[in-house]
Amino acid sequence: MRTWSTKNGFKVTRILSGRSNVFLVTKDNVNILVDTSSKNYRRVLNKRLKRLGINQLDYLILTHTHIDHASNADQLKKTFGARIIVQREEAGYLASGKNIMIRGTNLFTRSLVNLLKQLNPFITYPPCPYDIVVDTRLDLKMDSINLHLLHTPGHTPGSMSIIVDDEIALVGDAMFGVFKGSIFPPFALDVRQMIQSWGKLLQTNCYLFMPSHGSVNKKELVQKEYKKWSKILK
Ligand SMILES: [Zn+2]
Repeated sequence: MRTWSTKNGFKVTRILSGRSNVFLVTKDNVNILVDTSSKNYRRVLNKRLKRLGINQLDYLILTHTHIDHASNADQLKKTFGARIIVQREEAGYLASGKNIMIRGTNLFTRSLVNLLKQLNPFITYPPCPYDIVVDTRLDLKMDSINLHLLHTPGHTPGSMSIIVDDEIALVGDAMFGVFKGSIFPPFALDVRQMIQSWGKLLQTNCYLFMPSHGSVNKKELVQKEYKKWSKILK
């Protein structure tokens, strides 16, 4: 588990990596979880939360509703009393446990998606009722917590990012941290919209961009990639 701190005392802990990263954002007595990983990681995720002394979660924020992000939402809501936050475009998917569609951004991932669709056209996970719906922006203000959520669509229509203390952005699958020198994800429904979302994220003062897959991206790399891809897509 790796932890980052901000100047105002927020702690961002990557409590799970592997299939998908799960982040815990804490400040004083407020606990916020971002994403849940997939079913196979449920036990270890619960164990790590308990090990950190977390018995209650104030919020669970879903960056989007793919199975490797939302599969344990219902269980975490029940066990830790988390209020669930999801973007409006994908609230219905979460409530019915439907995996929102994926599309490859290159030849290989496009064929992979077609193959997966043939093998299992109906991918589902336990449905989870939601509590709060985000449109373009939501400011989460409670006790000493002041963070905001931004709609950053492209990977999926309801993808969103969490801006912690205007320093660290948790970006879900809007970016990847797997390929050296690149943040471009292998899957996105709307690439143009996703590049625009990078621009939106660069308007914050964040200098670290933490994706759900792979390691953290620094601002310089995101700027470089944004410049390159916004030119190509003109
Ligand atoms: Zn995804």
